[in-house]
Amino acid sequence: MLKVEHIGIAVKALEQSIPLYESLLNTSCYKTEVVDSEKVNTAFFRQGDTKIELLESTDPEGVIARFIDKKGEGIHHIAFEVADIEAEMARLRAEGFTLLNETPKKGADHKLVCFLHPKGTHGVLVELCQEIR
Ligand code: ZN
Repeated sequence: MLKVEHIGIAVKALEQSIPLYESLLNTSCYKTEVVDSEKVNTAFFRQGDTKIELLESTDPEGVIARFIDKKGEGIHHIAFEVADIEAEMARLRAEGFTLLNETPKKGADHKLVCFLHPKGTHGVLVELCQEIR
């Protein structure tokens, strides 16, 4: 894996969280994007070579809404950038990790993504992401 591409944080309301993170990081949110397939609104901040992705549910039954119901707001996933997502998925599958997606899917920020089941990673939801070329 190349680097930590971003850290995903589940929030109740971007309206409150964007200004808070702008003030925390001393940088402006450079992009918001709705990802319909995941039922989330996302907001991105650059921090050096890494990004912070805020995730707000657009649906009370969405994965982020359910995460917040269970655990409250907070860190939701860590995303690692990979050069070849299909190859990395095959490698991790062979290593015995459980992938939550059979094939890469289109995520926010012009990426192909795949998630690993947190039960196999000591409770951390791991996202693999590859820039769509
Ligand atoms: Zn992410």
